[in-house]
Amino acid sequence: MTTNRTRHLRVSRAAAREAFALAGGRCSFPGCPTPRTLDNGLPLLEIAYIASPVPGGPRYLNITSSRDAADQSDNIIVLCPTHHALVDSNWEAYPVKILRQMREGHLERVNQALDGPRTATSRLTEALEVWERERCNTSEEYWQKFFAERPEALAIPLEGKAYSLLSKCYVGGKTVTNAGGNVLDFLALNSGNCALLEIKTPSARLLTNGAYRTNAFAPSRELSGSCVQVLTYRDSLIRHFTSLAVSTPDLRAVSPPCTVLIGDLESEKMSGNERHSFELFRSALKDVRVLTYDELFTGVRMVLDAIS
Ligand SMILES: [Zn+2]
Repeated sequence: MTTNRTRHLRVSRAAAREAFALAGGRCSFPGCPTPRTLDNGLPLLEIAYIASPVPGGPRYLNITSSRDAADQSDNIIVLCPTHHALVDSNWEAYPVKILRQMREGHLERVNQALDGPRTATSRLTEALEVWERERCNTSEEYWQKFFAERPEALAIPLEGKAYSLLSKCYVGGKTVTNAGGNVLDFLALNSGNCALLEIKTPSARLLTNGAYRTNAFAPSRELSGSCVQVLTYRDSLIRHFTSLAVSTPDLRAVSPPCTVLIGDLESEKMSGNERHSFELFRSALKDVRVLTYDELFTGVRMVLDAIS
């Protein structure tokens, strides 16, 4: 802990003016109410260093010369006096990384407030950019969150019908001791039916290595397992429909379609025989549609091309 507020080096007047403008005249600390104002009506705000340019100062980083650090406009954050004192006196709780995130988050909120709500087109464009950047991300939670935040990217597996998307849904199956219970990744509701969606990762393999028999390749454990999983959830949803509909009166279930989103055909680079086996397997599935991530995002790109 230190109370050193690094008064030795000052930010240039131009850099400060620019920072106040970019911050929309508001403190960057999340949830900070409208700042107190001075007698002239201007908000009472201060410039804080993200990494102090002075040895011994809060979050001092010896990455550059002191003069450069003092002038670096991306090394400063706009805060009210209360939050400036808080982050500088508790610099261990507010390291450089946290302050950078705070600054970025605030600038994003200011931009959104200026631009108004983002259009579906800009959201899909952003979803495509994230896909290109993150397609190797192996975290199922990451992709769950990705689609929860961008439900419009799932319009293709949901056949473009209007729906409301519920994330991590309980679809029945608990015992009387409240144990067990089936939790589906996404349940899409529309006025006439629902649809079930299980999300795996793009890095999940679609086939097992090596031929099962000459020219015949078996689906991976992840692929066959996720198909059984979504069918189990559908079975549970239908069997417990009466009790589930009590808490969700909008729920309808008319042979609800099931989709598994898994794998990346472009990255898996199958041979001709492997691809043939994969297509034979998924086309023979009566009640589950298997969609790969690259297919989904190719669809998103086609939609964007069509409307641009
Ligand atoms: Zn504040």
